[in-house]
Amino acid sequence: MKFYTILASSILLSACIGQVNDVSTDGTDGNSAATLGGAVDGAPLSGERPPTREEAEAILDRVVALYQDHAAAANPAGTHEISWRIDWDSDAVSAHVLLNLGEDWTIEVSKGYLTVSSMTPEVFALTMCHEMGHFIGGFPFKTSRRVDSALGTSVSSEGQSDYFATKDCLPRLWANETEANAAAFAALDPSARARCTAATSDLASQQLCGRILLASLQTGRFYEEQEVLQAPRELVYPRFDTPDPTEAAVTKEGHPASQCRLDTLVAGAVCSVKATGTGIPGLVPPYGEYSDASEEAARPFACQTGPGARPRCWFQPDTVVTDCSELGQQACVVNDDGTHGVRYCGTTSGVDYYWCFQDEVCKTGRDGFSDCYAPDVDPDEGAP
Ligand SMILES: [Zn+2]
Repeated sequence: MKFYTILASSILLSACIGQVNDVSTDGTDGNSAATLGGAVDGAPLSGERPPTREEAEAILDRVVALYQDHAAAANPAGTHEISWRIDWDSDAVSAHVLLNLGEDWTIEVSKGYLTVSSMTPEVFALTMCHEMGHFIGGFPFKTSRRVDSALGTSVSSEGQSDYFATKDCLPRLWANETEANAAAFAALDPSARARCTAATSDLASQQLCGRILLASLQTGRFYEEQEVLQAPRELVYPRFDTPDPTEAAVTKEGHPASQCRLDTLVAGAVCSVKATGTGIPGLVPPYGEYSDASEEAARPFACQTGPGARPRCWFQPDTVVTDCSELGQQACVVNDDGTHGVRYCGTTSGVDYYWCFQDEVCKTGRDGFSDCYAPDVDPDEGAP
């Protein structure tokens, strides 16, 4: 079996930062801790210390409070609530969301996340807004995680959650913190400040934008460090002036590279089209799918052109959609020469095949998973 598609579970988990051990205890490279603590391009970074427990809890309380009305509106009985939990027993660097049928929408953060290299109160606020984006951010969704509409939402893709964080969530969270906004705006270099002065003529809004840009730069650094820890390579910190030039053939649902993520955060910060109301943009039948109907429904809630538009390094508006309703997500197939295989269908990834070895046959278990087995193996018996 090459890979699995996760389905058939009411619990939905979208891990944003994986189970990476703390930098200080995971040093295969003796220089990594020192490298990770370095400065970024001489850029001024405020609040370069982890959030205290009180700060982290206060940020979570405030981020969650911003969107309780969305959760309540998400089902007719108004029973969804957004909650948060910090796992004080876990040193893993982990933040994710949980959706469980009939229960709260929950943001879960580990203790290790709060103290990891580059974590600051500003990065924490941005990344908790990213988590909220998985619930509220709307189209494009993670189509592989599509679940029952009774959950009231479908999990937004990683790029969309980043975009939501700086476009919608942080502007609401920091709207009245005029002093901190002004200080951050003043600390930015002139070319970065110009992005905000071009985006809006109102000084308070420019300062708010500036603070979000500064937080975005810090978060880009954090994302890069986590990326390198998961797949070791040389650190290349993302910068405002080195946008990712790549163009995705189809919209990506997973984590874009750190430069692409910074580009997305910047686009959100300078996009003046904010989401309105308490709906989830693009959450229309068939819920959570990548459909033209969903894309159209979400269109009024985002910048479509200019510096505020989502970057093409992950967002591809011309994505060709495959209808998998007839084919199903996966099924056993046999080709002309009798070789068995598994056919996968994804709305954005299209149709793909995995062929079995000559002495194997494809079987579908009671759980709906199809896979290649030796002829005498029963998929429901637990293959050896
Ligand atoms: Zn995420």
